[in-house]
Amino acid sequence: MRKLFFYLCFIGFVSCATQQNNVQAYSNNTTFAKSISKIDLQNIVYKLASHEFNGRRSGENGQKLAATYIANFYKNLNINAAQANENYFQNIPKAFFNGLSDANSENVVAFIKGSSHPNQYVIVSAHYDHLGEKYGQVYYGADDNASGTSAVLEIAEAFKTAVLAGHRPKRSIVFLNLTGEEEGLFGSKYYTSQPIFPLENTIADLNIDMIGRVDEAHKDDENFIYLIGSDKLSTELHNLSEMANSTYTHLNLDYTYNDENDPNRFYYRSDHYNFAKHNIPIIFYFNGIHDDYHQPTDTPDKINYDLLVKRTQLIFYTAWEIANRPAKLKVDKN
Ligand SMILES: [Zn+2]
Repeated sequence: MRKLFFYLCFIGFVSCATQQNNVQAYSNNTTFAKSISKIDLQNIVYKLASHEFNGRRSGENGQKLAATYIANFYKNLNINAAQANENYFQNIPKAFFNGLSDANSENVVAFIKGSSHPNQYVIVSAHYDHLGEKYGQVYYGADDNASGTSAVLEIAEAFKTAVLAGHRPKRSIVFLNLTGEEEGLFGSKYYTSQPIFPLENTIADLNIDMIGRVDEAHKDDENFIYLIGSDKLSTELHNLSEMANSTYTHLNLDYTYNDENDPNRFYYRSDHYNFAKHNIPIIFYFNGIHDDYHQPTDTPDKINYDLLVKRTQLIFYTAWEIANRPAKLKVDKN
């Protein structure tokens, strides 16, 4: 998650439409969701937020190590790279970072091809970069955003498990691990300016940034997640997200920060915004701010892994629904 800054333009129109879209009955998707496990998420978060990766600052060695780790995760599961020649790395030139990165940096992109609508793309995204090291202190970024990165990788594994069981998603799923978020959403800015898959065929972006912790407002009832943006462009997306949760995961979906008048303006502060700008419906999944936000104390031992499992499963079920419903997700607002 980026520090607060202000964008002009784009005021989404919030409506209270209550159109119902029932979640389809799919055999086996609960089996596939179970491949999203606490131990797997834990291993990934501890690795990404380790001393070795040194806070994963864009352009630095720690970020490159993290990029390689992510690419190898896909490779080991036989999940294809999004680009030709099994190239997982979308290179972003140093010049694109306006002086905020000392070197080139990379988005890491994998995908699973859809069966009946391979040219429609559902993106699941999270940034994997963080703040690096300052004054001899490593900023581990366990919640921000090793948590979201672990979720993307485990969702990829769940979809791959489904493919191996003969349940390839109807639409293609793109796993987009972004760099340069902390310096100014550069990874998503670059991807949307040089898209690997056409933006006009990109039907949604589910973006995950900080989903491993509990904020002060929920300390007495931890079973929650903030959702932002779900109703801004597509009533159908909001409704299917609600139904996925009420059918499977039963989290309290908190829409506090979805309010256009909320001073935190979270809708504009992570990578999904670069997709929303292109009229692509998004949902931003977020646990709120806590004392360790952008501090060296954002460490893996403080993540609530049981909650991380549940939140990741919600995002998997939502992606599954978008990828498999008979008709393409409808955009009915702007
Ligand atoms: Zn951040």
